[in-house]
Amino acid sequence: MSGRADRGTVKIVNGRYRPSGHFHYIDANTPIYDESGKLWGVTNPRDITHIHTYGGEAPFFEALKDGRLLGTKCENPDCDYVGTTYMPFRIHCPDCLARNTVVDLTKVANSTAVIHSFMVTERTGAFNTLPKPIKFINVEFDGVDTILMGSLAVGDPIIGQAVVPIFKTQDPTFTILDLSWVVKGTDASELPAGFSFG
Ligand SMILES: [Zn+2]
Repeated sequence: MSGRADRGTVKIVNGRYRPSGHFHYIDANTPIYDESGKLWGVTNPRDITHIHTYGGEAPFFEALKDGRLLGTKCENPDCDYVGTTYMPFRIHCPDCLARNTVVDLTKVANSTAVIHSFMVTERTGAFNTLPKPIKFINVEFDGVDTILMGSLAVGDPIIGQAVVPIFKTQDPTFTILDLSWVVKGTDASELPAGFSFG
């Protein structure tokens, strides 16, 4: 539950994690009976905060709050696939294993992104926060060698439809939920709360 008053937080000091507060909570268990009242087991409610480290992907998530979409590119001249550009963001080139260069693909996305394929889902797993049905789209860009999966917040998905990214620049979550998509031509007044164009 997010309402726990002393929910733990983490800071980095001198390159080390410094957690403070509480991270694990145990709620009362309850018995599980069958129709005759025979005990089968218990529920064990547990509330755990997972500390998720972004490592070399942190620049991608940090840029979303500024309305920028970052990808990466292999610039190793000795790589057979030099120049390959990755979106989603890949820290290392999968071919030569060199560290990729971060590239800003916001303009490329705004001018060339189209729906490659899509999937509409009415049912989701636990912890989904997107409004249903979710319109998942795979987005392709000119000059980018991979395809990015996202969700379409406004409009109907059609293969080949031009789309533009939108960013949760107000109260960002610093997760992939700060990035969404709308069909090109969507008015700013139609965007979900907190989102703006890049
Ligand atoms: Zn490479």
